[in-house]
Amino acid sequence: MYDVTIIGGGPSGCLLGKNLAKKGFEVAILEEDPEIGQPMCCAGIVGAEGLKEINLDPESWSLRELRGGTFHCPTGETVKLSRGRTEAHVIDRAKFDRDLAEKAVRAGAELKLKNRVRGISRNEKGVTLLVKKRGGSEEVKSRMIVGADGPNSLVARTLDLMKNFSPTIAAQAEVVKKSESRNAHVYLGNDLSKNFFGWAVPTGDIYRVGLGDKNGNVVRKLINFLEDEPSLPEDSRKKIVRLTTGLIPTPGSRKIYGERVILVGDAAGHVKPLTGGGLYLGLSIVEIASEILTKALEGEPTEENLREYRKAVSEKYGKEFKMGARVRRILQKASDDDITEFLKLLTVPEIRDIILKNADFDNHSKLFRELMKNGPSLISAIGTRKLMKYLGWFAKT
Ligand SMILES: Cc1cc2nc3c(=O)[nH]c(=O)nc-3n(C[C@H](O)[C@H](O)[C@H](O)COP(=O)(O)OP(=O)(O)OC[C@H]3O[C@@H](n4cnc5c(N)ncnc54)[C@H](O)[C@@H]3O)c2cc1C
Repeated sequence: MYDVTIIGGGPSGCLLGKNLAKKGFEVAILEEDPEIGQPMCCAGIVGAEGLKEINLDPESWSLRELRGGTFHCPTGETVKLSRGRTEAHVIDRAKFDRDLAEKAVRAGAELKLKNRVRGISRNEKGVTLLVKKRGGSEEVKSRMIVGADGPNSLVARTLDLMKNFSPTIAAQAEVVKKSESRNAHVYLGNDLSKNFFGWAVPTGDIYRVGLGDKNGNVVRKLINFLEDEPSLPEDSRKKIVRLTTGLIPTPGSRKIYGERVILVGDAAGHVKPLTGGGLYLGLSIVEIASEILTKALEGEPTEENLREYRKAVSEKYGKEFKMGARVRRILQKASDDDITEFLKLLTVPEIRDIILKNADFDNHSKLFRELMKNGPSLISAIGTRKLMKYLGWFAKT
Protein backbone atom coordinates (compact mmCIF):
# COMPACT_ATOMS: atom_id res chain seq x y z
CA MET A 1 0.00 0.00 0.00
CA TYR A 2 1.59 3.27 -1.13
CA ASP A 3 0.72 6.59 0.42
CA VAL A 4 0.45 8.13 -3.04
CA THR A 5 0.46 6.66 -6.54
CA ILE A 6 1.15 9.21 -9.25
CA ILE A 7 -0.13 8.33 -12.72
CA GLY A 8 2.23 9.84 -15.32
CA GLY A 9 6.02 10.23 -15.30
CA GLY A 10 6.12 13.63 -17.06
CA PRO A 11 7.63 16.72 -15.39
CA SER A 12 4.63 17.33 -13.12
CA GLY A 13 4.40 13.74 -11.86
CA CYS A 14 8.15 13.45 -11.28
CA LEU A 15 8.52 16.77 -9.42
CA LEU A 16 5.60 15.89 -7.15
CA GLY A 17 7.02 12.39 -6.65
CA LYS A 18 10.37 13.85 -5.63
CA ASN A 19 8.83 16.32 -3.17
CA LEU A 20 6.60 13.73 -1.47
CA ALA A 21 9.28 11.03 -1.31
CA LYS A 22 11.61 13.58 0.33
CA LYS A 23 8.97 14.09 3.04
CA GLY A 24 9.15 10.36 3.77
CA PHE A 25 5.96 9.17 2.03
CA GLU A 26 5.81 5.90 0.10
CA VAL A 27 5.41 7.06 -3.50
CA ALA A 28 4.98 5.16 -6.77
CA ILE A 29 5.06 6.83 -10.21
CA LEU A 30 3.45 4.79 -12.98
CA GLU A 31 4.45 5.64 -16.55
CA GLU A 32 3.01 3.86 -19.59
CA ASP A 33 5.97 4.54 -21.89
CA PRO A 34 9.24 2.55 -21.78
CA GLU A 35 11.37 5.70 -21.61
CA ILE A 36 10.99 9.00 -19.73
CA GLY A 37 10.87 12.04 -22.03
CA GLN A 38 9.84 10.13 -25.18
CA PRO A 39 7.84 10.61 -27.32
CA MET A 40 8.30 14.40 -27.07
CA CYS A 41 6.08 17.08 -28.63
CA CYS A 42 7.00 20.48 -27.19
CA ALA A 43 8.60 23.74 -28.32
CA GLY A 44 10.47 23.63 -25.00
CA ILE A 45 10.43 27.33 -24.13
CA VAL A 46 10.53 28.11 -20.39
CA GLY A 47 10.91 31.54 -18.80
CA ALA A 48 14.26 32.17 -17.09
CA GLU A 49 12.68 33.80 -14.02
CA GLY A 50 10.11 31.01 -13.72
CA LEU A 51 12.87 28.40 -13.63
CA LYS A 52 14.59 30.31 -10.84
CA GLU A 53 11.33 30.46 -8.89
CA ILE A 54 10.94 26.69 -9.00
CA ASN A 55 14.64 26.14 -8.22
CA LEU A 56 15.61 24.48 -11.49
CA ASP A 57 19.06 25.18 -12.92
CA PRO A 58 18.82 25.03 -16.74
CA GLU A 59 22.53 24.45 -17.33
CA SER A 60 22.39 20.77 -18.25
CA TRP A 61 19.33 20.93 -20.55
CA SER A 62 19.23 24.50 -21.94
CA LEU A 63 19.95 24.47 -25.69
CA ARG A 64 19.64 28.21 -26.28
CA GLU A 65 18.92 31.41 -24.40
CA LEU A 66 16.16 33.49 -25.98
CA ARG A 67 16.42 37.27 -25.82
CA GLY A 68 13.42 38.45 -27.79
CA GLY A 69 10.43 37.69 -29.93
CA THR A 70 9.19 38.69 -33.37
CA PHE A 71 5.45 38.84 -33.95
CA HIS A 72 4.33 38.23 -37.55
CA CYS A 73 1.10 40.03 -38.56
CA PRO A 74 -1.32 38.41 -41.04
CA THR A 75 -0.07 41.01 -43.55
CA GLY A 76 3.50 39.71 -43.27
CA GLU A 77 4.67 42.81 -41.40
CA THR A 78 6.71 42.13 -38.26
CA VAL A 79 7.05 43.67 -34.81
CA LYS A 80 10.12 42.80 -32.76
CA LEU A 81 10.37 43.08 -28.97
CA SER A 82 13.54 42.63 -26.95
CA ARG A 83 15.04 43.93 -23.73
CA GLY A 84 18.47 42.63 -24.71
CA ARG A 85 18.56 40.14 -21.86
CA THR A 86 17.81 36.44 -21.46
CA GLU A 87 14.05 36.03 -21.16
CA ALA A 88 13.69 32.29 -21.64
CA HIS A 89 15.49 29.04 -22.42
CA VAL A 90 14.79 26.62 -25.23
CA ILE A 91 15.33 23.28 -23.57
CA ASP A 92 16.11 19.68 -24.46
CA ARG A 93 12.73 18.37 -23.23
CA ALA A 94 13.78 14.72 -23.07
CA LYS A 95 16.81 15.57 -20.89
CA PHE A 96 14.69 17.90 -18.73
CA ASP A 97 12.11 15.16 -18.07
CA ARG A 98 14.82 12.57 -17.35
CA ASP A 99 16.55 14.92 -14.93
CA LEU A 100 13.32 15.34 -12.93
CA ALA A 101 12.68 11.57 -13.01
CA GLU A 102 16.20 10.88 -11.69
CA LYS A 103 15.64 13.34 -8.85
CA ALA A 104 12.38 11.60 -7.94
CA VAL A 105 14.04 8.19 -7.87
CA ARG A 106 17.02 9.50 -5.87
CA ALA A 107 14.57 10.94 -3.32
CA GLY A 108 13.03 7.46 -2.87
CA ALA A 109 10.06 7.36 -5.27
CA GLU A 110 9.51 4.07 -7.10
CA LEU A 111 9.30 4.69 -10.86
CA LYS A 112 7.56 1.92 -12.80
CA LEU A 113 7.92 2.17 -16.59
CA LYS A 114 5.65 0.37 -19.06
CA ASN A 115 2.88 0.45 -16.46
CA ARG A 116 -0.34 1.72 -18.00
CA VAL A 117 -3.25 2.50 -15.68
CA ARG A 118 -6.48 1.15 -17.18
CA GLY A 119 -8.98 1.28 -14.34
CA ILE A 120 -9.57 3.05 -11.01
CA SER A 121 -11.81 2.11 -8.07
CA ARG A 122 -12.13 3.87 -4.72
CA ASN A 123 -13.51 2.94 -1.30
CA GLU A 124 -13.31 4.59 2.13
CA LYS A 125 -9.84 3.09 2.79
CA GLY A 126 -8.05 3.94 -0.44
CA VAL A 127 -7.75 3.63 -4.20
CA THR A 128 -7.07 0.54 -6.30
CA LEU A 129 -5.58 0.91 -9.76
CA LEU A 130 -5.75 -1.75 -12.42
CA VAL A 131 -2.38 -1.59 -14.19
CA LYS A 132 -1.41 -3.24 -17.45
CA LYS A 133 2.26 -4.24 -17.57
CA ARG A 134 4.50 -6.67 -19.39
CA GLY A 135 3.19 -10.18 -18.91
CA GLY A 136 -0.29 -9.20 -17.64
CA SER A 137 -2.04 -6.94 -15.17
CA GLU A 138 -1.75 -6.14 -11.48
CA GLU A 139 -3.57 -4.13 -8.84
CA VAL A 140 -1.76 -1.21 -7.17
CA LYS A 141 -3.24 0.06 -3.91
CA SER A 142 -2.63 3.43 -2.27
CA ARG A 143 -4.19 5.89 0.14
CA MET A 144 -4.63 8.42 -2.65
CA ILE A 145 -3.74 8.96 -6.31
CA VAL A 146 -2.55 11.92 -8.39
CA GLY A 147 -3.50 12.33 -12.04
CA ALA A 148 -0.35 13.66 -13.74
CA ASP A 149 -1.30 11.86 -16.92
CA GLY A 150 -1.41 14.73 -19.39
CA PRO A 151 -4.13 16.58 -21.30
CA ASN A 152 -6.33 13.55 -22.06
CA SER A 153 -6.11 12.38 -18.43
CA LEU A 154 -7.66 8.97 -17.74
CA VAL A 155 -7.85 9.92 -14.06
CA ALA A 156 -9.88 13.07 -14.83
CA ARG A 157 -12.17 11.21 -17.23
CA THR A 158 -12.74 8.18 -14.99
CA LEU A 159 -13.38 10.11 -11.79
CA ASP A 160 -15.71 12.70 -13.38
CA LEU A 161 -13.26 15.57 -12.98
CA MET A 162 -13.26 16.52 -16.69
CA LYS A 163 -15.88 19.25 -17.13
CA ASN A 164 -15.37 19.50 -20.88
CA PHE A 165 -12.76 18.33 -23.34
CA SER A 166 -11.99 20.86 -26.06
CA PRO A 167 -8.19 20.89 -26.34
CA THR A 168 -6.10 22.70 -28.92
CA ILE A 169 -4.51 20.23 -31.31
CA ALA A 170 -0.89 21.07 -32.06
CA ALA A 171 1.66 19.83 -34.57
CA GLN A 172 5.38 20.52 -34.60
CA ALA A 173 8.16 19.85 -37.13
CA GLU A 174 11.86 19.81 -36.34
CA VAL A 175 13.61 21.39 -39.31
CA VAL A 176 17.37 21.10 -39.84
CA LYS A 177 18.83 24.61 -39.88
CA LYS A 178 21.88 25.91 -38.03
CA SER A 179 21.27 29.31 -36.50
CA GLU A 180 22.85 31.67 -34.02
CA SER A 181 19.52 33.47 -33.53
CA ARG A 182 18.24 34.09 -30.01
CA ASN A 183 14.84 35.20 -31.19
CA ALA A 184 11.55 33.28 -31.20
CA HIS A 185 8.87 33.92 -33.85
CA VAL A 186 5.11 33.99 -33.31
CA TYR A 187 2.70 33.99 -36.29
CA LEU A 188 -0.88 35.22 -35.99
CA GLY A 189 -3.70 35.25 -38.53
CA ASN A 190 -7.01 33.56 -39.28
CA ASP A 191 -5.76 31.74 -42.38
CA LEU A 192 -2.99 30.13 -40.34
CA SER A 193 -5.04 29.35 -37.22
CA LYS A 194 -8.41 30.68 -36.07
CA ASN A 195 -7.91 29.77 -32.43
CA PHE A 196 -4.19 29.70 -31.72
CA PHE A 197 -0.92 30.67 -33.43
CA GLY A 198 2.17 29.38 -35.18
CA TRP A 199 5.76 29.46 -33.92
CA ALA A 200 9.37 29.01 -35.03
CA VAL A 201 12.07 28.61 -32.42
CA PRO A 202 15.83 28.21 -33.00
CA THR A 203 17.62 25.64 -30.86
CA GLY A 204 21.06 25.80 -32.54
CA ASP A 205 21.03 22.96 -35.11
CA ILE A 206 17.26 22.66 -35.46
CA TYR A 207 14.27 24.98 -35.77
CA ARG A 208 11.10 23.87 -34.00
CA VAL A 209 8.22 25.03 -36.19
CA GLY A 210 4.64 24.40 -35.14
CA LEU A 211 1.07 25.54 -34.96
CA GLY A 212 -2.10 24.75 -33.06
CA ASP A 213 -5.82 25.03 -33.75
CA LYS A 214 -9.05 23.72 -32.30
CA ASN A 215 -10.32 22.26 -35.57
CA GLY A 216 -9.13 20.95 -38.89
CA ASN A 217 -6.12 18.94 -39.99
CA VAL A 218 -3.26 20.66 -38.16
CA VAL A 219 -0.57 18.52 -39.76
CA ARG A 220 -1.78 19.59 -43.23
CA LYS A 221 -1.88 23.22 -42.05
CA LEU A 222 1.66 22.91 -40.69
CA ILE A 223 2.96 21.45 -43.96
CA ASN A 224 1.34 24.35 -45.88
CA PHE A 225 2.88 26.79 -43.40
CA LEU A 226 6.33 25.24 -43.90
CA GLU A 227 5.93 25.47 -47.66
CA ASP A 228 4.46 28.96 -47.90
CA GLU A 229 5.87 31.10 -45.07
CA PRO A 230 8.80 33.09 -46.54
CA SER A 231 10.37 33.96 -43.16
CA LEU A 232 10.98 30.27 -42.28
CA PRO A 233 14.33 28.62 -43.13
CA GLU A 234 14.60 27.92 -46.86
CA ASP A 235 13.14 24.59 -48.04
CA SER A 236 11.83 23.88 -44.53
CA ARG A 237 9.37 21.29 -45.84
CA LYS A 238 12.23 19.16 -47.20
CA LYS A 239 14.34 19.34 -44.06
CA ILE A 240 11.96 17.88 -41.47
CA VAL A 241 13.60 15.25 -39.28
CA ARG A 242 10.72 14.78 -36.87
CA LEU A 243 7.00 15.53 -37.00
CA THR A 244 4.85 15.19 -33.88
CA THR A 245 1.37 16.08 -32.68
CA GLY A 246 0.05 16.78 -29.20
CA LEU A 247 -2.85 18.27 -27.27
CA ILE A 248 -2.99 21.45 -25.22
CA PRO A 249 -5.76 21.44 -22.58
CA THR A 250 -8.13 24.32 -21.96
CA PRO A 251 -7.49 25.93 -18.55
CA GLY A 252 -10.48 25.71 -16.22
CA SER A 253 -11.84 22.61 -17.97
CA ARG A 254 -11.30 20.30 -14.97
CA LYS A 255 -12.13 20.00 -11.28
CA ILE A 256 -8.68 19.55 -9.77
CA TYR A 257 -9.50 17.60 -6.61
CA GLY A 258 -11.88 14.94 -5.36
CA GLU A 259 -12.10 12.07 -2.84
CA ARG A 260 -8.52 10.70 -2.51
CA VAL A 261 -7.41 12.33 -5.77
CA ILE A 262 -5.91 15.52 -7.17
CA LEU A 263 -4.86 16.47 -10.69
CA VAL A 264 -1.61 18.30 -11.59
CA GLY A 265 0.02 19.70 -14.74
CA ASP A 266 -1.76 19.29 -18.09
CA ALA A 267 -4.14 16.76 -16.51
CA ALA A 268 -5.41 19.65 -14.35
CA GLY A 269 -5.49 22.09 -17.30
CA HIS A 270 -2.68 24.09 -15.71
CA VAL A 271 -1.33 25.83 -18.80
CA LYS A 272 -1.08 29.53 -19.65
CA PRO A 273 -4.36 30.45 -21.39
CA LEU A 274 -2.65 32.76 -23.85
CA THR A 275 0.21 30.54 -25.06
CA GLY A 276 -0.63 27.01 -23.85
CA GLY A 277 2.77 26.81 -22.09
CA GLY A 278 2.46 24.38 -19.19
CA LEU A 279 5.97 23.70 -17.94
CA TYR A 280 6.47 26.61 -15.55
CA LEU A 281 2.82 26.89 -14.50
CA GLY A 282 2.39 23.13 -14.01
CA LEU A 283 5.55 22.85 -11.92
CA SER A 284 4.87 25.99 -9.91
CA ILE A 285 1.45 24.57 -8.96
CA VAL A 286 3.06 21.20 -8.15
CA GLU A 287 5.01 23.05 -5.43
CA ILE A 288 1.66 24.20 -4.00
CA ALA A 289 0.21 20.68 -4.32
CA SER A 290 3.23 19.21 -2.49
CA GLU A 291 2.52 21.34 0.59
CA ILE A 292 -1.21 20.58 0.58
CA LEU A 293 -0.69 16.80 0.18
CA THR A 294 1.94 16.73 2.91
CA LYS A 295 -0.68 18.12 5.32
CA ALA A 296 -3.58 16.04 3.97
CA LEU A 297 -1.61 12.77 4.24
CA GLU A 298 -0.96 13.39 7.94
CA GLY A 299 -4.69 12.69 8.27
CA GLU A 300 -6.94 11.21 5.57
CA PRO A 301 -6.78 12.61 1.99
CA THR A 302 -10.54 13.10 1.79
CA GLU A 303 -12.18 15.52 -0.63
CA GLU A 304 -12.78 17.87 2.31
CA ASN A 305 -9.08 17.87 3.24
CA LEU A 306 -8.00 18.40 -0.39
CA ARG A 307 -10.34 21.35 -1.03
CA GLU A 308 -7.53 23.66 0.12
CA TYR A 309 -5.64 22.80 -3.10
CA ARG A 310 -8.17 24.55 -5.35
CA LYS A 311 -8.24 27.55 -3.04
CA ALA A 312 -4.44 27.89 -2.98
CA VAL A 313 -4.19 27.61 -6.79
CA SER A 314 -6.91 30.27 -7.27
CA GLU A 315 -5.18 32.58 -4.82
CA LYS A 316 -1.88 32.43 -6.68
CA TYR A 317 -3.05 32.05 -10.30
CA GLY A 318 -6.80 32.85 -10.44
CA LYS A 319 -6.26 36.33 -11.91
CA GLU A 320 -3.67 35.01 -14.35
CA PHE A 321 -6.08 32.36 -15.67
CA LYS A 322 -8.94 34.87 -15.96
CA MET A 323 -6.99 37.64 -17.69
CA GLY A 324 -5.17 35.26 -20.05
CA ALA A 325 -8.46 33.62 -21.06
CA ARG A 326 -9.97 37.04 -21.74
CA VAL A 327 -7.16 38.13 -24.05
CA ARG A 328 -7.27 34.74 -25.80
CA ARG A 329 -11.01 35.15 -26.43
CA ILE A 330 -10.41 38.63 -27.88
CA LEU A 331 -7.74 37.28 -30.24
CA GLN A 332 -9.96 34.37 -31.28
CA LYS A 333 -12.72 36.74 -32.36
CA ALA A 334 -10.44 39.30 -34.00
CA SER A 335 -10.34 39.82 -37.76
CA ASP A 336 -6.95 39.85 -39.52
CA ASP A 337 -7.14 43.66 -39.68
CA ASP A 338 -7.77 43.83 -35.92
CA ILE A 339 -4.85 41.47 -35.21
CA THR A 340 -2.52 43.61 -37.33
CA GLU A 341 -3.74 46.79 -35.67
CA PHE A 342 -3.32 45.19 -32.24
CA LEU A 343 0.24 44.01 -32.97
CA LYS A 344 1.20 47.41 -34.40
CA LEU A 345 0.26 48.95 -31.06
CA LEU A 346 3.47 47.34 -29.80
CA THR A 347 5.42 49.87 -31.88
CA VAL A 348 3.77 52.90 -30.22
CA PRO A 349 6.57 54.25 -27.95
CA GLU A 350 4.33 54.82 -24.89
CA ILE A 351 2.92 51.28 -25.12
CA ARG A 352 6.29 49.74 -25.93
CA ASP A 353 7.71 51.38 -22.78
CA ILE A 354 4.98 49.87 -20.58
CA ILE A 355 5.54 46.46 -22.19
CA LEU A 356 9.31 46.51 -21.83
CA LYS A 357 8.99 47.61 -18.21
CA ASN A 358 6.28 45.15 -17.14
CA ALA A 359 6.33 42.12 -19.44
CA ASP A 360 6.88 38.90 -17.55
CA PHE A 361 7.34 35.72 -19.61
CA ASP A 362 5.31 33.58 -17.23
CA ASN A 363 2.85 36.00 -15.65
CA HIS A 364 0.96 37.91 -18.32
CA SER A 365 -1.78 39.48 -16.19
CA LYS A 366 0.57 42.04 -14.63
CA LEU A 367 1.25 43.58 -18.05
CA PHE A 368 -2.41 43.67 -19.09
CA ARG A 369 -3.38 45.26 -15.76
CA GLU A 370 -0.67 47.88 -16.23
CA LEU A 371 -1.87 48.65 -19.78
CA MET A 372 -5.48 49.04 -18.58
CA LYS A 373 -4.33 51.23 -15.68
CA ASN A 374 -2.47 53.50 -18.10
CA GLY A 375 -5.41 53.62 -20.54
CA PRO A 376 -6.26 57.32 -20.01
CA SER A 377 -2.65 58.47 -20.44
CA LEU A 378 -2.42 56.56 -23.74
CA ILE A 379 -5.14 58.71 -25.35
CA SER A 380 -2.65 61.12 -26.88
CA ALA A 381 -0.56 58.24 -28.25
CA ILE A 382 -3.28 56.24 -29.99
CA GLY A 383 -6.35 58.52 -30.03
CA THR A 384 -9.65 58.33 -28.15
CA ARG A 385 -11.51 56.36 -30.83
CA LYS A 386 -9.02 53.52 -30.93
CA LEU A 387 -8.60 53.44 -27.18
CA MET A 388 -12.39 53.16 -26.69
CA LYS A 389 -12.46 50.38 -29.26
CA TYR A 390 -9.81 48.35 -27.39
CA LEU A 391 -11.39 48.96 -23.99
CA GLY A 392 -14.69 47.85 -25.58
CA TRP A 393 -13.08 44.53 -26.58
CA PHE A 394 -12.14 43.94 -22.96
CA ALA A 395 -15.52 45.02 -21.62
CA LYS A 396 -17.35 42.65 -24.00
CA THR A 397 -15.40 39.47 -23.14
C1 LIG B 1 3.22 21.21 -29.61
C2 LIG B 1 3.37 21.61 -28.17
C3 LIG B 1 4.29 22.59 -27.83
C4 LIG B 1 4.45 22.97 -26.50
N1 LIG B 1 5.39 23.92 -26.19
C5 LIG B 1 5.55 24.32 -24.92
C6 LIG B 1 6.52 25.30 -24.57
O1 LIG B 1 7.25 25.82 -25.42
N2 LIG B 1 6.63 25.67 -23.26
C7 LIG B 1 5.83 25.13 -22.28
O2 LIG B 1 5.95 25.53 -21.13
N3 LIG B 1 4.92 24.18 -22.58
C8 LIG B 1 4.76 23.75 -23.86
N4 LIG B 1 3.85 22.78 -24.15
C9 LIG B 1 3.09 22.18 -23.05
C10 LIG B 1 3.93 21.15 -22.27
O3 LIG B 1 4.44 20.20 -23.16
C11 LIG B 1 3.05 20.52 -21.19
O4 LIG B 1 2.47 21.54 -20.42
C12 LIG B 1 3.86 19.57 -20.29
O5 LIG B 1 4.33 18.46 -21.00
C13 LIG B 1 2.96 19.08 -19.15
O6 LIG B 1 3.67 18.17 -18.33
P1 LIG B 1 2.86 17.06 -17.51
O7 LIG B 1 3.87 16.33 -16.70
O8 LIG B 1 1.71 17.67 -16.84
O9 LIG B 1 2.24 16.08 -18.62
P2 LIG B 1 2.96 15.24 -19.75
O10 LIG B 1 4.28 15.79 -20.09
O11 LIG B 1 1.93 15.09 -20.83
O12 LIG B 1 3.18 13.83 -19.06
C14 LIG B 1 2.12 12.93 -18.83
C15 LIG B 1 2.68 11.52 -18.74
O13 LIG B 1 1.65 10.62 -18.35
C16 LIG B 1 1.80 9.41 -19.05
N5 LIG B 1 0.50 8.74 -19.06
C17 LIG B 1 -0.65 9.17 -19.67
N6 LIG B 1 -1.66 8.31 -19.43
C18 LIG B 1 -1.13 7.31 -18.66
C19 LIG B 1 -1.69 6.12 -18.08
N7 LIG B 1 -2.98 5.78 -18.26
N8 LIG B 1 -0.88 5.31 -17.35
C20 LIG B 1 0.43 5.64 -17.16
N9 LIG B 1 1.01 6.75 -17.69
C21 LIG B 1 0.24 7.57 -18.42
C22 LIG B 1 2.28 9.86 -20.44
O14 LIG B 1 2.93 8.82 -21.12
C23 LIG B 1 3.22 11.01 -20.08
O15 LIG B 1 4.54 10.58 -19.90
C24 LIG B 1 3.66 22.37 -25.48
C25 LIG B 1 2.73 21.38 -25.82
C26 LIG B 1 2.58 21.00 -27.15
C27 LIG B 1 1.58 19.92 -27.51
